[in-house]
Amino acid sequence: MTKVTDLIAIDEAHAWHPYTSTIGRDPVYPVASAHGCLIELADGRTLIDGMSSWWCAIHGYNHPVLNQAAKDQLARMSHVMFGGLTHEPAVRLVERLVGLTPEPLRHVFLCDSGSVSVEVAIKMAIQYWYAKGRPEKHRLLTVRSGYHGDTFAAMSVCDPVTGMHRLFSGLLPQQLFAPAPACGFDATCRDQDIAELNTLLAEHHRELAAVILEPIVQGAGGMRFYSPHYLERVRERCDRYQVLLIADEIATGFGRTGRLFACEHASVAPDLMTVGKALTGGYLTLAATLASAEVAHTISSGDPGVFMHGPTFMGNPLACALANANIDLLLASDWRANIRRIEQILRDGLAPCARLPGIVEVRVLGAIGVVELEHPVRMREIQRRFVDRGVWVRPFGRLVYLMPPYIITDAQLAVLCRAMVEVLSEFGAA
Ligand SMILES: *Cc1c(COP(=O)(O)O)cnc(C)c1O
Repeated sequence: MTKVTDLIAIDEAHAWHPYTSTIGRDPVYPVASAHGCLIELADGRTLIDGMSSWWCAIHGYNHPVLNQAAKDQLARMSHVMFGGLTHEPAVRLVERLVGLTPEPLRHVFLCDSGSVSVEVAIKMAIQYWYAKGRPEKHRLLTVRSGYHGDTFAAMSVCDPVTGMHRLFSGLLPQQLFAPAPACGFDATCRDQDIAELNTLLAEHHRELAAVILEPIVQGAGGMRFYSPHYLERVRERCDRYQVLLIADEIATGFGRTGRLFACEHASVAPDLMTVGKALTGGYLTLAATLASAEVAHTISSGDPGVFMHGPTFMGNPLACALANANIDLLLASDWRANIRRIEQILRDGLAPCARLPGIVEVRVLGAIGVVELEHPVRMREIQRRFVDRGVWVRPFGRLVYLMPPYIITDAQLAVLCRAMVEVLSEFGAA
């Protein structure tokens, strides 16, 4: 086995990590293994996981049931092409997803990653209007502070300031942006909260294919929560102006917000929905775009009569088998009560942060706890302090947050919350 020091040196020389420079970069921590809610570092230290590896590992790591599902599927086949062939793991999964998501969603397009599922949803929206003889309806409207992925169409609907618009300006399609929803989760949405979105829709609906947004929780664009009432009003406006609604549930799906899908907080049914992240419990990359029967049939009966997309690894059997096992595991548990348990501990445990200097707000919804700071964190420093306290918390910008695996114990969660309070109080004092 490679020595830990060599591993770090080779990594530093050749591995490009997410959103990093190759020069003078912050340290990375080699992991030897992970099980349950614990990440074992190669230097022998153990960290309690507060991140679920970016919303994914909802049942923790190295889960015996998921491991067995992978082994069973591996013994049959890890992959066959999805063009002209099909298999039980994919068939069971699409049936399952249709059953769990809002009624009009009937057709499932399996994709390799979240960003690709967003590209697919956008292409479907554009192809839908093309098929209806309205090719001029090809733009998108979204809200600020959103995040929808790193590929080109997805980037075009990410927040224009914190996203990558400046760098790729001239290359990204020019989309329309309404303000981020100002009404908090418990607030009702006043006319003024939706006025600008309304105006943009009224003025531009003839060129708009769809509104795309993350329902209720905006993830990587700002970790903001907003009112279900706002989402209801967006749905109503989309219907009035004949614009499709795309719900990006990649971060929120599979229980994270306290509902299986965040749209359920508002009883809103989108025309297109994307899911990913927790879909395989963090085992393999897999995402899906769900389309209503109306969208699917219109695309399929128009010109050119087929939906123009088809990834090589589409419907990968191993990933689908894990998604099925992951969903079985989730639904067999009392996940609603469990998310309420995590929510309560996060509320109590993070409350002291609100009294610290330099804190803008502490907010909790479902199994998501966010502390928003006045100033961006010093990443290298704060990361080291969390690791020294035996927890894995990975802040970004002014946001320090927890979204632990659902299997986390009360005691482990208390350690995570205490570490947040301690580290953030040291930072405020520094
Ligand atoms: C993470 C995320 C994506 C992108 O998913 P990838 O698998 O990283 O490509 C898109 N939308 C939302 C809401 C996300 O949280």
